Amino acid sequence: MKTDPPDPRLHALVEGIVRIASGDLTTRIPQSGARDDVAAVIAGINLMADDLQTIYQELEERVESRTAMLRDAQVELERMALTDPLTQLANRTALNSVLSHALAETARGELPPALLVLDLDSFKGINDTLGHSAGDDVLRVISRRLQESVRETDTVARLGGDEFAVMLPKSNLVRARRVANRILKALGESLEIGDLRITCGTSIGLRVAEPGQSVDDLVMEADTAMYAAKAQPHSSIRVFEPALLYARRLQSVMITELREAIGQDQLTLHYQPVVDLATGRTEGVEALVRWNHPERGLLMPDSFIPLAEETGMIVDLGHWVLRNAVRQLRHWQQELNVDDKFNVRVNISTTELQNLDLIEHVRDILSETGVDAANLIVELTESMAINGGDVDKYSLSGLRRLGVQLEIDDFGTGYSSISYLRKLPVNVVKIDKSLIAGLGSDEEQSNFVAAVLHLIHACGLKAVAEGIETAEQAAELLRLGCASGQGYYFGRPVPAAQIEALIGPGALGLD
Ligand code: C2E
Ligand code: MG
Ligand code: MG
Repeated sequence: MKTDPPDPRLHALVEGIVRIASGDLTTRIPQSGARDDVAAVIAGINLMADDLQTIYQELEERVESRTAMLRDAQVELERMALTDPLTQLANRTALNSVLSHALAETARGELPPALLVLDLDSFKGINDTLGHSAGDDVLRVISRRLQESVRETDTVARLGGDEFAVMLPKSNLVRARRVANRILKALGESLEIGDLRITCGTSIGLRVAEPGQSVDDLVMEADTAMYAAKAQPHSSIRVFEPALLYARRLQSVMITELREAIGQDQLTLHYQPVVDLATGRTEGVEALVRWNHPERGLLMPDSFIPLAEETGMIVDLGHWVLRNAVRQLRHWQQELNVDDKFNVRVNISTTELQNLDLIEHVRDILSETGVDAANLIVELTESMAINGGDVDKYSLSGLRRLGVQLEIDDFGTGYSSISYLRKLPVNVVKIDKSLIAGLGSDEEQSNFVAAVLHLIHACGLKAVAEGIETAEQAAELLRLGCASGQGYYFGRPVPAAQIEALIGPGALGLD
């Protein structure tokens, strides 16, 4: 029996299906022009291949666009991770990365990078008085000025708060100093915030990297130089030197030690008599804190009070002083029978006045000891009484309500507060020792002190003079109408036990 030769299209059909199935979607099976079942199958397969090809193309396009979106998002994420959102400057991470790149280049023989660390001097005040949105505006203006002061290749970063950094690649001290000066000038220009014009000082620390230095060390050293610049009164630039590192280490050791000192009773109070100039009788004492340092001996307040203020430890220190001074007074009242006007003066710093617990604390100590509030005199400085904000006013009026007396210390050294003197919420004014020094020898000085005394009395306040070192000064003050005085002439500050001879039953003027 004779069989028909196989239809040649079937072979092409099978081959086509295999190619399409293997993913070659451009494959089409040739048509012969016949109109039979095989032709219909071929047409069907070709149509299916068309569809598949379209679907596949769409899928590919979609994958491509999604991949592009992902890539953009990743770039944006990276940018955000390296940018300060407020100023759009580089952030600390970005700075570290450019620094590490620059330091690596230095290791290959390039010139080293220089790093400037900047801190605005009065930013906290701006934030506190004008509000945070004004503070943000200031930061943005400063950022723009910084960027305009440097080259494209330099990196300007915001490290946080009001701290900025500028990295100058392939630099040297001369160039870095020039840039720092330019920045200081640009930032020193006043800026407009709302309808206010303000100026904001800047402190700049400068460090040119050493070969082999790590990023962390470079940043820390530029930062150390910035702190040294900050210690200077006006906007200034400080170039890093190793001695600064030593001073900073010493300071951080001292911070730890002072914290321990307050907890471990290494502090001690010395007392200096305040006398009635007419009779020589001791009216009271001023408590002056000292630090009995285990290695360095007795330290005077000037060497640790500023540090305590800077770190906020002054609040604990001040509580300690108040508690111990008032307890000491109670002891004298009970053991030595001092008269009921005998008072103790305690110095208070700005930070303590801004602490809302102050009044509570004073009230507790007075009730714990049973000491009358009128026997406690709190000494504060002129600027504290005049410039204080709401919390200060709250503290001062709270203390007054308790019955505590308030005294302006070091009067005549700060502001010319003549017009303020009448409004100040105080009872006593202590004339500073710098005004007393020339008394007795210099007639003009006598006239001046006489006028100051008149002023104090005209405001209905009592006057005390401090820093009396000679009998002439004491006599002159008495002649000018000053009722009370304090100074080496009457007695230096001494431990409680030594002052007892002056205030005990056998003391001058007490019987
Ligand atoms: P201040 O309150 O004006 O204290 C007077 C300072 O003058 C004391 O120095 C005292 O020893 C010194 N002085 C007394 N008489 C004379 C004198 O005749 N001639 C001279 N040249 N100086 C005299 P000190 O004890 O070194 O205290 C310095 C400052 O430290 C104090 O000045 C006060 O502002 C601060 N201070 C002392 N104790 C405390 C405290 O417990 N808390 C706070 N916040 N500050 C304190
Ligand atoms: Mg004082
Ligand atoms: Mg004083």
